[in-house]
Amino acid sequence: MKVSRRTLLKLTGFGFAATIMLPRMAFAARNSLKSLRTGVQPGNKTRLVVEMAARPSYTLSYPNNQLVINIANTAANKSLTPKLAAGTLVKSISQTQVGDRLQITANLNKPISQIPKSQIMMLEPNGDNDYRLVLDFSAGASVAAGAGAATTAKNTVPAKTTTTPAKKYVVVIDAGHGGKDPGCIGKGGTREKDIVLSVAKKLRVKLDANGFKTYLTRGDDTYLKLSERAAIAERRKADLFLSLHANANPSRAMKGFSIYTLSEKASDEEARKLAESENASDKIGLDDWTGFEKDIRFALSSLQQHAVAEMSEEYANSCARTFRGAKIEQQPGPGVRHAPFAVLRSTVPGALLELGHLSNGAEEKLLRTGAHQDKLVNAIVRSVKNYNFEV
Ligand SMILES: [Zn+2]
Repeated sequence: MKVSRRTLLKLTGFGFAATIMLPRMAFAARNSLKSLRTGVQPGNKTRLVVEMAARPSYTLSYPNNQLVINIANTAANKSLTPKLAAGTLVKSISQTQVGDRLQITANLNKPISQIPKSQIMMLEPNGDNDYRLVLDFSAGASVAAGAGAATTAKNTVPAKTTTTPAKKYVVVIDAGHGGKDPGCIGKGGTREKDIVLSVAKKLRVKLDANGFKTYLTRGDDTYLKLSERAAIAERRKADLFLSLHANANPSRAMKGFSIYTLSEKASDEEARKLAESENASDKIGLDDWTGFEKDIRFALSSLQQHAVAEMSEEYANSCARTFRGAKIEQQPGPGVRHAPFAVLRSTVPGALLELGHLSNGAEEKLLRTGAHQDKLVNAIVRSVKNYNFEV
């Protein structure tokens, strides 16, 4: 059975337990293995996570039906049991000490191709987890393709195929504002509610094509209370919630994107003001937010609240990185900020994405173009695919 982190969170109120067991070392190992785990990602990809105490220096190789990871200056941790999820390509994982290197060998059901760079991630520690080397891969042509591979195939007993459909992760896309609430308006008359709805619809099509189950909080020009948006994420049992916005700044020179997560205390004055203006959306509809918020709060233990915050933070950081990688201009200052956004008050991990500034003439024009909207959509899709749904 595949369990997403969010389901796990709901079921158990867990923390991500990491076992710290240091082996006796014959050399001065500078790094240690904390955990090994696998999971299934959208598109039926296998995810292998190698958690380490320090940032690992590693190499990958792909001998017959194996994925071999060599990690420098690391001792084997024989007392560690890998957590293997059902339905992945990984049959078993073993550790071998080769001098001062730790060699981790994943025995696979099927050969795989060299894992492309885009499918390899190095995640920073985030409170509950240490450094994680994350490898995503699917069955494909063997790296040693050709006659040799054909011979190997002959001797291979075909693996029993089980038809477990891959779990579809649920993403709720929230186009900010709508109806009587236009959001911010550019000098050229561009309304935030129209831009974000257009991006939300495109995003939905692309995420669906990538194997996600998506819902829009609004699919047309309708006014929705902030609590209703959060409630849709709850009702749909979303794994991730993305609220799309465009920004305005008193300075017409200000431009660029920024990503926000929920925090009771704003990270800076600008973030505080932004949350105030986004939250003001409810003043238009005289929202009865307080009752709803209470229910949601009681539904989560402090440990669970912490876990939701950590997951949101992880997503937001990776989203900001992806945007920068796609050469989308970032607002000066930190890429990820925090503020008490009402729409993010739920049990669903998520972030509020300010896609750019409508108050800046050049960016207003850019945000109107299909090409730039596609660029934003592609970056968001990548950030969702990179998000660690399962492990
Ligand atoms: Zn907004």
